[in-house]
Amino acid sequence: MLSRISLPLARAARTPARTFASSASIAKDKQRLVILGSGWGGYNLARKADKSLYDVTVISPNSYFSFTPFLASTCVGTLEFRCATEPVRRLKHVSYAQGWAHSVDIAERCVRVVPALPPLHPDEGGSSASTVASGSSGAERHAPASPGDAYTLPFDKLVIATGCRSASFGTPGVKEHAHFLKDVREARAIRFALLENLEMASEPGISDAERRRLLSMRVVGGGPTGVEFAAELHDFVTQDVYRLYPHLRGLVRITLYDLAPGILQSFDHSLRAYAERKFARQGVEVRGNSRIVSVSKEYLEIAPKDGDGEPERVPYGLLVWNTGLQANPFIEALPGLDKDPKTKSLKVDPHLRVCDTSGTPLDGIFAIGDNATPNDGHRLPATAQVASQMAGHMAKTLKLVGRGARIENTPAFRWKDHGSMVFIGDYRAMVDRSKSRDDGPRARLSGFVAWIVWRSYYATLAMGWRNKILIPVYWTLALFFGRDVTNF
Ligand code: FAD
Repeated sequence: MLSRISLPLARAARTPARTFASSASIAKDKQRLVILGSGWGGYNLARKADKSLYDVTVISPNSYFSFTPFLASTCVGTLEFRCATEPVRRLKHVSYAQGWAHSVDIAERCVRVVPALPPLHPDEGGSSASTVASGSSGAERHAPASPGDAYTLPFDKLVIATGCRSASFGTPGVKEHAHFLKDVREARAIRFALLENLEMASEPGISDAERRRLLSMRVVGGGPTGVEFAAELHDFVTQDVYRLYPHLRGLVRITLYDLAPGILQSFDHSLRAYAERKFARQGVEVRGNSRIVSVSKEYLEIAPKDGDGEPERVPYGLLVWNTGLQANPFIEALPGLDKDPKTKSLKVDPHLRVCDTSGTPLDGIFAIGDNATPNDGHRLPATAQVASQMAGHMAKTLKLVGRGARIENTPAFRWKDHGSMVFIGDYRAMVDRSKSRDDGPRARLSGFVAWIVWRSYYATLAMGWRNKILIPVYWTLALFFGRDVTNF
């Protein structure tokens, strides 16, 4: 495998040894499976792929997998960052290269990979200590090197699992000033900014207006991610901040904005109403029908949805933006492939094969997760549940094909909807299985029991033993000793 990777001479001396060291020992008769991305799709597939049939290489700018359901918890210290990651290099018989897929040569069956530069330290502009945001996604901060440094990686089977980016919908100032929450580095930037604001708000010489601004936490997007972040923030403020910063008691404001009339539009209406009642009681303000028209360093401009009236100018200290997803630029730039007109993701056939613009599936090139849309007209939700089911299915398909089956004779991918869960703070959560099963009240669960279900489910879903142990330990530490507020 090593000898089949062509590299520019300048990089040849260090890259092969660093990146593909484990490949040298793998038998020559194996097929080369290249997986792009180390998220829910890519990481799960790398875990499950049959290593006796495939020589597996993962290409991703992140050398780790981010367990996204725990990112909101890590932003406030309910869990430590380590609990929400798994290193790719721990996967047995999997090679890894830290890089960005730049392009795919379908005819030559190879991927061009650009090495990823190390992320910037917060002091270098990654996250500002001045109350506001990192200004760019964690992924962007782990930037590609110059395309001139690219090398070529041949494949027999290619699985594209590069996910999507956080969307700003072109709102001016969002990329520069808001925090996104998609990766553990972004969670770290949020925690840093949050704790920094608390310290600055505690300065004796600060004006009341500036203190109020610093303590105004605004969350844009009332989907599960925005709701869980607001809920974690609420718990942190009421359980830890007011105890450790008694002079700030009652001053923190948490506001959640959405274009829709309320939050959690994908949940059953009775659960939505329950969440809104809980938030009202907790003092988390929900402002529906709100369109953010621009963001500056310290202010948001909000217009009513129907466009009537003057935009309102609202100060903020922390702004977290969770309004959905947009296409990954790598996917957008891939030519000659069938893409969903709305999401720009790759259309895949029932065997998850990528199709060309005439709808013909390409041999040995697959897409899974957020960057894949079935070509049968049914859009699937962009969730970890879908991505990991696709990864499991892909691993089985590749095993059958690797043993000589024709792909057309392998089972088609079918998504099983296991329902949705969301944490809403104060030891409460909601479980909605009303779309996936029809068994009356048991399909919807809310309150403390749902919180136990939520926590147990995600604790068992953690992939490595280290995290299966660490997660309950950190939950217990946070419960008895409070969350860590060390700001570094
Ligand atoms: P991702 O997990 O986004 O992974 C994409 C990978 O590709 C990353 O490793 C990225 O670095 C890499 N990459 C990007 N560009 C390139 C490139 N050019 N070359 C190589 N690699 C590249 N879903 C649920 O079902 N339940 C939940 O509770 C839940 N909670 C969530 C909480 C948060 C805060 C967020 C952000 C999402 C949550 N989701 C949840 C959604 C879920 O995380 C996504 O649907 C899932 O991550 C999609 O998996 P994926 O593999 O397609 O993409």
